[in-house]
Amino acid sequence: MKALEKSHAREGLWMVRAPVPEIGPSDVLIRVNVTGICGTDTHIWNWDDWAASTVPVPMITGHEFAGEIVEVGRDVTDLEIGQRCSGEGHVVGTESRQSRSGRFHLDPGTRGIGVNVQGAFAEYIALPAFNVVPLPEDIPDDLGAILDPLGNAVHTALSFDLLGEDVLITGAGPIGIMAAAVARYAGARHVVITDIRSDRLKLIERVCPDVRSVDATREDLNDVMREIGMKQGFDVGLEMSGNQNALDQIVESLVMGGKIALLGIPPGTSPVDWSRIVFKAITIKGVYGREMFETWYKMIAMLQNGLDVSGVITHRLKAEAFRDGFAAMKSGRSGKILLDWR
Ligand code: ZN
Repeated sequence: MKALEKSHAREGLWMVRAPVPEIGPSDVLIRVNVTGICGTDTHIWNWDDWAASTVPVPMITGHEFAGEIVEVGRDVTDLEIGQRCSGEGHVVGTESRQSRSGRFHLDPGTRGIGVNVQGAFAEYIALPAFNVVPLPEDIPDDLGAILDPLGNAVHTALSFDLLGEDVLITGAGPIGIMAAAVARYAGARHVVITDIRSDRLKLIERVCPDVRSVDATREDLNDVMREIGMKQGFDVGLEMSGNQNALDQIVESLVMGGKIALLGIPPGTSPVDWSRIVFKAITIKGVYGREMFETWYKMIAMLQNGLDVSGVITHRLKAEAFRDGFAAMKSGRSGKILLDWR
């Protein structure tokens, strides 16, 4: 089969011929139709310190996908050949305290497809049946291929009750934009999203016209808050940028007793004024992955009930054009980029 592989411990990815993976008794084999390029894949392409210390070579990359089951292991009873599906990219065990209490996404032994185990940028992927998420007929493969990042957005946005709340999102990448759409869907009163890249702010205007986008290089957030009639600070902050200024901005503009969900990863150790956190009585939650499988359940339910995030997809390319996809990714101007393997 064709597969996009990290074949060498240096910058780049290579399209190679690889054997179709063999499946174990509790796995399924999935023919991959569409995949999405994630920031994680760009780290692996660039071979930065994180990638070099995490990813064994060779490794088929990629973890955002939609496809169709073509083979089921002998112990798999609840899935059938022909079922369209996406899947959770974190492969977890069942032995840890977290897993045994149903908090699979917190299993310390988690391995990531396309990171620690062979991934989805290929014509076929083997996946534990446990990880499979069947796709209903009304969710097309293009959306199925972005459920992984949508899941990050949903997990982060639904960390706290948003009904009637004023929400500040920092970072208008695809996940930030989808989180804004989810926050509106979940009944937030005002949703404000900040970024410093004008292309990203244009994209948010297209995907969520009823969200107030703010160019952090030009506009003062206090003016925006006054303009939309906010009398106090934001109730909830969703940090999606990993940027120190953004994090400081959230702490600064949060109301007393406000809440922050952190998905963005700041570089190195970033300073925090903990006294501000204490005196403002702020709650902070770190967000990892998606809850298995409550997040998946919620996002599919929302998509079937009118949540529309399809506008976040800006590129649809053939798998062979992966170089163009990664170039667009690295430009920082794209939304989600899809690679078609059919
Ligand atoms: Zn991803």
